Amino acid sequence: MSSSTGEWCCTECGSHNAYQETFSDDEVGHIMGCEDCGYYDVYREDAETEEVIEEYAGFDHEYAQDDKENNK
Ligand SMILES: [Zn+2]
Repeated sequence: MSSSTGEWCCTECGSHNAYQETFSDDEVGHIMGCEDCGYYDVYREDAETEEVIEEYAGFDHEYAQDDKENNK
């Protein structure tokens, strides 16, 4: 597993309460998520076939739903 996480400045609300994760193993791609406004930018593709598994940008991603669960 090769991945790294770091801080990210949200492109939607400008918050630094956001993170990005990039990875390159059996899947290649990135996930950016903002904990303030719930914006997520997700891109994942299969490293072997280069088939896009997921491409998403918006406010209703399941990860954002998870954040809301955790904040209860
Ligand atoms: Zn944001």
